[in-house]
Amino acid sequence: MADLVYCPICAAKLGVKQEAGRERLACPSGHWTHWDNPLPVLAALVELDGKILLARNAAWPEKMFALITGFMERGETPEQGVARELKEETGLDAEAIALIGVYEFMRKNELIVAYHVKATGEVRLSEELVEYRLVAPEKLRPWRAGTGYAMADWMRARNLPVEFLEWPSN
Ligand SMILES: [Zn+2]
Repeated sequence: MADLVYCPICAAKLGVKQEAGRERLACPSGHWTHWDNPLPVLAALVELDGKILLARNAAWPEKMFALITGFMERGETPEQGVARELKEETGLDAEAIALIGVYEFMRKNELIVAYHVKATGEVRLSEELVEYRLVAPEKLRPWRAGTGYAMADWMRARNLPVEFLEWPSN
C-alpha cells in the first residue's frame, strides 16, 4: 500500500490510521481511505482438442507457462470476462465455461477466480504472449501458488495424480 501518498479530494498527505487492528492510509481530514482491497483476477484453464493450453508471457522466464489470466471490465460477468480475455490473448472462442474455484493470491493482493474453458478455433497469440504449449491433462505440473491450486483442483476432480512443480528460482 505504498503507492498512494495524497488524498484525491484535498491533496493532503495520507496518514496511517489504525482501524480494527489494521493499518490503512487515510486522509487526516477524513475525505478518503485507501482500502487496498484485493482485486479479482480471472484465470482460464483452456482445453483445446483435449489438451490444456499454457502460455508464456513476454515478461516471464523461459520455462514459465501459465493459465490465461486477465482483469474484469466494468459491466461484464466473470464468464463474459474470461471469454473476452481468451479471445484477446489467444484468438480462441469459449464454448463452455465452468467455475473451478476461487483462490487467494495474497502476494499480489489479488483474488483468483478460475474457470475451465473448453475452446475452439485457431491459436493466434496476442503480443503479450510469446509462446504456448498444448499439454495433456495428466502431464500438467501445477505450481504451489494462485492458479496452480486451481489447476491441481481441476486435476483432482478428474482423478489425475497431482505432482507440483517447485516455483522457478528466478
Ligand atoms: Zn482529504
